[in-house]
Amino acid sequence: MSDEKSMQALLGDEAVAVGALHAGLSAAYGYPGTPSTEILEYLLETYKKQREKAEAKPGNFSARWCSNEKTALEAALGVSFAGRRSIVTMKHVGLNVAGDPFMNGALLGIKGGLVLAVADDPGMHSSQGEQDSRYYAAFAMVPCLEPRTQQEAYDMTREAFEISERFHVPVMLRLVTRLSHARSGVRLQKEREANPLSRITDKTEWMLLPAFARRNYARLIEKQKEIAEWAEAHPANKLEPSAGAAGRGPPPQTGKKDLVVITSGLGGNYYEENLADLAASRGSSPSRLHIGAYPLPVESIRKLCEGAETALVIEEGQPFIEERLRGILPQSIAIAGKLGDGRGGPGVAPRTGELDPDNVRRALGLPPRPNILSVIKTGTFPSSLPNRPPQLCQGCPHGNSYETIRKAMAGFDPALSAVTSDIGCYSLGAMPPYEVPESIVCMGASIGMAKGAVDSGLKYVTAVIGDSTFIHSGITALIDAAAANAAMTVAILDNSIVAMTGCQDTMVPSDKLETLIRGLGVESDHLVVLETKKQLVEENAKLLRKEIEYPGLSVVIFRRECLEAARKRSRAKKA
Ligand code: SF4
Repeated sequence: MSDEKSMQALLGDEAVAVGALHAGLSAAYGYPGTPSTEILEYLLETYKKQREKAEAKPGNFSARWCSNEKTALEAALGVSFAGRRSIVTMKHVGLNVAGDPFMNGALLGIKGGLVLAVADDPGMHSSQGEQDSRYYAAFAMVPCLEPRTQQEAYDMTREAFEISERFHVPVMLRLVTRLSHARSGVRLQKEREANPLSRITDKTEWMLLPAFARRNYARLIEKQKEIAEWAEAHPANKLEPSAGAAGRGPPPQTGKKDLVVITSGLGGNYYEENLADLAASRGSSPSRLHIGAYPLPVESIRKLCEGAETALVIEEGQPFIEERLRGILPQSIAIAGKLGDGRGGPGVAPRTGELDPDNVRRALGLPPRPNILSVIKTGTFPSSLPNRPPQLCQGCPHGNSYETIRKAMAGFDPALSAVTSDIGCYSLGAMPPYEVPESIVCMGASIGMAKGAVDSGLKYVTAVIGDSTFIHSGITALIDAAAANAAMTVAILDNSIVAMTGCQDTMVPSDKLETLIRGLGVESDHLVVLETKKQLVEENAKLLRKEIEYPGLSVVIFRRECLEAARKRSRAKKA
């Protein structure tokens, strides 16, 4: 690799994609979800170039969006079965969908390296929860790597494949929004060749029939010692002794330590931003352990905390390390972090939202920095920045759909009616001026919830779901509703694209949707397709109301292309 090529400015997500390609990746799968989307976008671009050069053929690198995270992970398992390397990308809540193959994947004899790049969204910039994926890795008993820089994202992705093949388990790469979406220079290493096709030979490794599964589970537990030793020795788990403040010379290294610090992920960067001030205020910096490879390096933690009064944990996400410390350290050592004293009081670090240099500074007991950002954040300076809640694009077809739904539902007894909604751009219909949806829970929940609501006695229930979310996880709930001929209406807002995450293609194009829905058991007479248009709102509302009043299952498709997708298409045509 030439010098020019060996250094690139990459987003964290792109660093993962390039790291995977350079590790000899054979296949990549995923479902779009902020902040993970750019990983597969990058890999798809590589695949597209390969196709343009007519190099795409079975066995060469390929990348695909999938119907959901579960199907994506299952495809990756198939690649591993064939002896090749694969990566699966998803956001944190996507791992709930892929939970089944993820947990069981840990019991298989993984052959080709299999890496899950899971991007958490602390602060819920574009999510329904702050779920911390490190819990999933611990639950499945598989290694997890947590990069804190774009360089580490690249290096750790490469390493994750090696680890996966060494321990024969899937490996998780835990990312967070600020790392995924920030750009930095990354030094690239020599590319590795892809694994040759070499499928597994011992079928019992991959058949989780009880007799084999019991054996495999026992073996996974046996592996934990070796995995723990790997984590303990990992260079990303770095123990740094106390050091003197600049110009004051090193402090004594022995004796009582009032404070030791454990950092992980981006928490380590924010800690370091405050380190000079911390050292100056104390006369020395506290001893510190940074954790980047899991399971937790228990011996290093004990060594760090020996003789300490307080261990302060600075970690992005949920108090994963902090909770576990309580089982590792003696009672005499106080643990500070997000959880407080265990009696419900607040911790020194924020329990919700993202870490940043200012709230980490507060956790360290330092006074606020005298800069304008800090002043605005701490609220001591009146901020007049206007609040800008997210909104549907001007002219978005969902706006007309919601006007239609609101008119169609008008006049029904509110005590007997409901509109359940789902995840996508159309969630924004919950905001003014529409304010139509009454529930938004998780991908596909609108249809299942609507069925439960009518089973419970509600009479006029409409489930709103996008075409892509419907394919992701609405189909199975519609099968339930069709089997029971539940008296409800499903409104599919079909804009022919996965809009919210940047206009990825849907798995089932619009012209195939009706055939699919009929195949699930929905009566043709109650499958209605409406053109979504401002001029047709009144007329469409009457048709929709008729279906809502029908005492059985109906599906109404509102169809019009997403404006953003149409713009992209026309730009691509001109290019
Ligand atoms: S991206 Fe498309 S679907 Fe989303 S709000 Fe804009 S126009 Fe509507």
